[in-house]
Amino acid sequence: MAARAQGTGRSEHVRTQFPLDESQIPRAWYNIKADLPVATPPVLHPQTLQPITDEFLEPLFPPGLIAHENAIDRYVEIPEPIRDVYRLWRPTPMLRAVRLERRLDTPAHIYYKYEGASPAGSHKLNAAVVQAFFNKQAGTQALVTGTGAGQWGTAMAMACSFFDLPLEVFMVKVSHAQKPYRRIAMEHFGAQVHASPTPSTRAGRAVLERSPGHPGSLGLTLSETLETVHASGGRKKYAAGSGLAHVLMHQTIIGQEALLQMELAGEYPDLVIACAGGGSNFGGFAFPFVQRNLTGAANAKIIAVEPAACPTMTRGTYAFDWADVAGDAPVVKMYTLGHTFVPAEIHAGGLRYHGMAASVSALVAHGDVEARAVNQLDTFSAAVQFSQAEGIIPAPESAHAIRVAIDEALRCKELGQKKVIAFNLSGHGHFDMAAYQAYQRGELHDQAYPAERVRDALASLPQPPLDAS
Ligand SMILES: *Cc1c(COP(=O)(O)O)cnc(C)c1O
Repeated sequence: MAARAQGTGRSEHVRTQFPLDESQIPRAWYNIKADLPVATPPVLHPQTLQPITDEFLEPLFPPGLIAHENAIDRYVEIPEPIRDVYRLWRPTPMLRAVRLERRLDTPAHIYYKYEGASPAGSHKLNAAVVQAFFNKQAGTQALVTGTGAGQWGTAMAMACSFFDLPLEVFMVKVSHAQKPYRRIAMEHFGAQVHASPTPSTRAGRAVLERSPGHPGSLGLTLSETLETVHASGGRKKYAAGSGLAHVLMHQTIIGQEALLQMELAGEYPDLVIACAGGGSNFGGFAFPFVQRNLTGAANAKIIAVEPAACPTMTRGTYAFDWADVAGDAPVVKMYTLGHTFVPAEIHAGGLRYHGMAASVSALVAHGDVEARAVNQLDTFSAAVQFSQAEGIIPAPESAHAIRVAIDEALRCKELGQKKVIAFNLSGHGHFDMAAYQAYQRGELHDQAYPAERVRDALASLPQPPLDAS
């Protein structure tokens, strides 16, 4: 076994790649709203706590995206100019992790879809391109967005340069200083990047007056972004990186391609695994498989993985809460740790969000999706094990899915089960080498579950009128 694991021994030929032709890039997005087993409650206005109307959305989004946010049809056609851009990197590869299977000595078959193959390095470009297209078409003069470590900002900057649209990015100040490469990448594509909090918005000034050395937070970038959009008199609009129904829908091209690729492999997954921050990566990969479960065509176990330091689905409550920290964004029924909860500084920055998309939350609450939390050190050890077998250095976020895939493969070994496991490798980790260095040096730690801070944060949930719930 050891010789085979090193690739020097003789081993049977096992097919590894399942390439699709570019004509097989999906022609429609899949809208899970058409198939949800329970209706999701209405989204509420941040102040009145009454269901929001298009009037609330119109200053923020162009008509095409509002239509997608409200869509109830099962499939929504992808405009041809967007498929044209997708041809730059789609269909993305799906591989069987044969070398990892051999290292683990598991009878399980492990497949992974690789969204790190996008030029932005993650799945986020799939949705960014759609937002740039519909805003350009509607005559929006500039887009404004917020970013943490910069994955979303990079994708949005690239998408805006494809469609010749100016972009302003509020980037969490501590990342702006400590992780300069994504900022430089955004500027390379023409974006204007501010370290948030800035002195140029009311929200930013208020924070800076109280605490001049404030490191910033994702919630604060959202407050600064929304203020900038509202002050622009309709010229600028907002680009959302995750959480909203339209963003999840735009990512479903991942899972649709994966279904075709599993067909080429001649297998169907028993387990479908993806990490979840706001839910767009998970929804994008898993929803087409969830649909097959809901219609009785299949019966895969679907697992959403989150960090133990930000355990929204495994330790939060299913309740109405504000989507942002300041209370300017809508109130959504979702799994939440409380909008004032500030997660510990783990390296999977894309998974540090207090809430979860409404549709993912509803599926977890209804028992159609299982949620699991994993510790930081366990995710890094899984990432290293995966890299040494398969070559790719994964983003720390993606390593959460790898951890659960390996755990399940090892359980198969123990029980002698030949299960088929499929997971989404949402991005590469080439901009995360400082985190890997900290791991190598033994400087990373697990964060204990912050039970008391969650209890405090959950005390400040809104109390919507009974008829809304
Ligand atoms: C942002 C990000 C995630 C989390 O995405 P959500 O869609 O918000 O759940 C996962 N993986 C990578 C590589 C990311 O950049």
